[in-house]
Amino acid sequence: PRHRRQLETLVRTDMLTGLPNRREFLSRLEREAHRQQRSGRPLSLVMIDVDHFKRVNDVWGHQAGDEVLARIGQILQALTREQIDVAARYGGEEFVLLLPETDLQGAVLVAEKTSARLREQEFESQGARFRVTQSVGVAEVVGGQAQWALQVADRNLYRAKREGRDRIVASVANGQTT
Ligand code: GH3
Ligand code: MG
Ligand code: MG
Repeated sequence: PRHRRQLETLVRTDMLTGLPNRREFLSRLEREAHRQQRSGRPLSLVMIDVDHFKRVNDVWGHQAGDEVLARIGQILQALTREQIDVAARYGGEEFVLLLPETDLQGAVLVAEKTSARLREQEFESQGARFRVTQSVGVAEVVGGQAQWALQVADRNLYRAKREGRDRIVASVANGQTT
């Protein structure tokens, strides 16, 4: 029935951004990783974390912070392929992209586009304007190893933060340590 379908959509959706939530993302990732393993076709992950987001809330207010997150959701949706890619809210101020048929180089291009688009986005609060940036970790899934690729993307994101933020760190999740 219709109500059941609506409920199922709700539990898969983040209410602030309208994007799939973490649970839905993880289930799509497992499915795509199996497909990747069978087909040998490329599959990549892009993990995004807003820089100094706590400051945005502290300086401009929680409402402005919410508006930033909602706008980022729109940007990610606009710059990914409908029906093929998944742009999800992973948690708090963290987002993730699942990009089938996309190798590391292609994923870096998508990441660069989203970072550039956000960098030029002006936000307004209390009559003042501000901008935000994002740090990004990218990983290409190898051998269907979804969980490992997630870890590599997360580690790359952490490196991007450490190396100064507003940047992208990418690597193939092939088991080699870098
Ligand atoms: P970094 O550059 O290292 O990522 O610093 P940061 O301030 O972005 O990171 P930190 O993890 O210290 O802070 C994240 C902040 O995001 C804290 C939390 O209150 C805020 N946040 C998480 N979810 C939401 C939300 O839904 N709305 C708003 N307005 N803020 C949120
Ligand atoms: Mg964070
Ligand atoms: Mg952050």
